[in-house]
Amino acid sequence: MSQHYRVVIVGGGIVGASVLYHLARAGWTDIALVERSELTSGSTWHAAAGFHAINADPNIAALQGYTIELYQQIEKESGQSVGMHMAGGIELASTPERWEFLKAEWALFQTLDMEGRLMTPDEIGDMIPIVSLDGVEGGLFDPREGHMDPHGTTHAYVGAAKKLGAKVILRSRVTALTPQPDHSWRISTEKGEITALHVVNAAGLWARRVGRMVGVDLPLVPLEHHYLVTESIPELVALDAEMPAVTDMDGFTYLQQEGKGVLLGVYEQNPRLWCPEGAAWDFGMDLLPEDVERIESELLVGFERFPPLQEAGIKRWVNGAFTFTPDGNPLVGPVPGLKNYWAACGCMAGFSQGGAIGLALANWMVEGDPGFDVFGMDVARFGKFACNDRYLAETTRQFYARRFAMTYPNEELPAGRPLKTSPCYDGLKEKGAHFGQVWGMETPLYFVPDERDFAEVPTLRRSNAHAIVGKEVAATRSAAGLFETGIYARYEVTGPGAEQWLDHLLASRLPGTGRVRLAPMLSPSGKLMGDLTVSRLADDRFWLVGSYVLQDWHLRWFREQLPKNGVNIENLSESWLGFSLSGPRSRDILAALTDEDVSNAAVKFLSCQAIGVGLSQAIVARISLTGELGYEISVPAIQQRALWTALNAAGESFGMRQIGVRALDSLRFEKAYGSWLTEFAQSYTPAMSGLDRFIAFDKGDFIGRDAALREQDSGPAQRLVLLEVEATDADAFGFEPVWVADRRVGFVTSGGYGHHVGMSLALAYVDRDVVELSAQVSVHVVGEKRDARILPKPPYDPAGKKMRG
Ligand SMILES: Cc1cc2nc3c(=O)[nH]c(=O)nc-3n(C[C@H](O)[C@H](O)[C@H](O)COP(=O)(O)OP(=O)(O)OC[C@H]3O[C@@H](n4cnc5c(N)ncnc54)[C@H](O)[C@@H]3O)c2cc1C
Repeated sequence: MSQHYRVVIVGGGIVGASVLYHLARAGWTDIALVERSELTSGSTWHAAAGFHAINADPNIAALQGYTIELYQQIEKESGQSVGMHMAGGIELASTPERWEFLKAEWALFQTLDMEGRLMTPDEIGDMIPIVSLDGVEGGLFDPREGHMDPHGTTHAYVGAAKKLGAKVILRSRVTALTPQPDHSWRISTEKGEITALHVVNAAGLWARRVGRMVGVDLPLVPLEHHYLVTESIPELVALDAEMPAVTDMDGFTYLQQEGKGVLLGVYEQNPRLWCPEGAAWDFGMDLLPEDVERIESELLVGFERFPPLQEAGIKRWVNGAFTFTPDGNPLVGPVPGLKNYWAACGCMAGFSQGGAIGLALANWMVEGDPGFDVFGMDVARFGKFACNDRYLAETTRQFYARRFAMTYPNEELPAGRPLKTSPCYDGLKEKGAHFGQVWGMETPLYFVPDERDFAEVPTLRRSNAHAIVGKEVAATRSAAGLFETGIYARYEVTGPGAEQWLDHLLASRLPGTGRVRLAPMLSPSGKLMGDLTVSRLADDRFWLVGSYVLQDWHLRWFREQLPKNGVNIENLSESWLGFSLSGPRSRDILAALTDEDVSNAAVKFLSCQAIGVGLSQAIVARISLTGELGYEISVPAIQQRALWTALNAAGESFGMRQIGVRALDSLRFEKAYGSWLTEFAQSYTPAMSGLDRFIAFDKGDFIGRDAALREQDSGPAQRLVLLEVEATDADAFGFEPVWVADRRVGFVTSGGYGHHVGMSLALAYVDRDVVELSAQVSVHVVGEKRDARILPKPPYDPAGKKMRG
């Protein structure tokens, strides 16, 4: 066997099969899927194969919807039945909190244009003859849920792909992957060598091993998972139609009809890892021994919720393994640091997500762009830190055990922490910091200096930390707030070609030496790739400051664009740290720490320079996210503690207070400032987000210019606006629908309380005609519609005089 393909996909589970199909459908037909054994012989063959569209990340929810819509098409194209049972599905609420949560989720359904409805307990009883309604408050019905035949579905993808010319090589394990000088791959298999320009790792339970073949560690591990299948149940024998699936979120179980019996699956609270390094190469289509004792307490709850199961015979136990990542979403896309090596693995919901993974990956490979915002499943969203075995064990077990748990916007989870801490972490703790984590970095949420055992209660409403955050906002507006900027990513770009390269990479004009500028970065299709701050420290030395979570994602993008010579890029995110000092007294505090002139004339708004601050030679940029006079002060990480000590000593007499990210959010809402991952993301454009005001269309060519110009001509369909919401005990926090009467006209991106202006505020994308014509809208907040109005200007200092003063 010796052959060259454009793409070789390693792995013939549901995900590899979908990638094969989507590439073939996109016209790349000189491709092959290489499978160690038979198709489906990893996790796929014994999956319960249930599917649903809902996901905590709405972008992924939309893609899951695509997967479900695709099934009929592949059945038709291949002539192979996918064994579709689309009987719908009900999420049960058996506590008042869960019922409130489901009502909020129902609002998200509406944002996503999903069908569905809330149900009363009686309606649930009518549909599900075997459910006990004890304690049930209601349910959320989604008609587009169900389950498939895993074997038939995989074969349908492959059959359809083969009809288009794709090849399948079975019983031939890939044993080695060797990069070639032309960036193609030599693929050693048990049946001989082949070559391919691209390799896709769709190896499921073996994906970590196939990653290590090329020196890459992927953040995924397999965990065990149990379900049982019963004999016939009389109540179901009596039914004419199939009963919808039921998820008892509070009982950690899911149930679907199988013949005239049921399949009951369990997400137990004490999950177990299985072969963390990947399954053995000779692992067959085997089941793992069931461990009923370990899942007993969840099973008992399940048997109480569905009492006829107590009498039903158990036909089959299944304990199998499938892979999890720290956040439960898959790993998709070009693997950072490698050419032409792609990930399509880490997928724990192949029957909801497989189609989406195939589509995104095929778009990415063929068009150079996934076509949607797929950051939530991008392999580059995790750093190397996430591949540590213990980190993976803790975070994946946490995800698994909380698979059906309610997640609250103010909740911080404990797994894998603390991992990254700054030198002043202990000092911040002593000052009462309560920490959250961003990409493994501990960052203060807020400070409770005088109540040592304060614990924030997770809630969808304003929490018991609300007033504490209010004090930090008040201090920043009246005196000064000190925010640790450990969650800013910093990159230094140097070299003779730096200016020319950045000018092409960024859509804004570059700042002059000693100046700072906000710089949108675009993809060729005119979508946002970054909202960076560029500081020019010397003619050929620039700093880019961006979102901390995007480090591997941004570096992959930068390196794809980098010329061979003349430009160096270095990630300083861990070697430089600092603080953002802002508020009307911040200049006084800075002046107390330096002999240099820091007057408005010497350190101008949007300037950057090296200034001695305390004992350190710091880089000081005059910029702030709070809307106040402010400075971002950065020093080598090893000097951060000394800088903090100096700032505290000088700040005390001016009323300076430590502030956390919650206060920063409140302050930015009052200025209508957007933030990455909420207002700014790959799915939005400069004209939608308002970042087009920073674009220099007349400066010559830059990436995304043509698309951005086209959008200027046509105008965006939606615009980012600030809403004031009539809400007294809760605020919108993201993806709630915005309405004019019964017309859905947009959705919230993020929201919170503006403590200084005393308003519930939300940023939202709203249809352009509504923005132009109507100020009155309504918004769902925790499942209830509230009146809201579009604010024409930010409520705090709309002219921006404070930060310039
Ligand atoms: C008990 C159980 C219940 C589940 N229930 C559901 C459910 O209800 N809904 C849902 O969506 N998901 C469910 N899942 C999860 C689902 O099975 C997985 O998401 C899905 O099967 C992952 O598919 P995959 O293609 O990524 O990986 P796999 O199915 O593991 O496929 C990987 C393939 O790669 C091949 N391979 C590996 N290494 C090599 C190599 N070196 N050379 C050649 N070939 C190689 C393997 O032989 C295998 O066939 C369940 C899983 C289990 C175990």
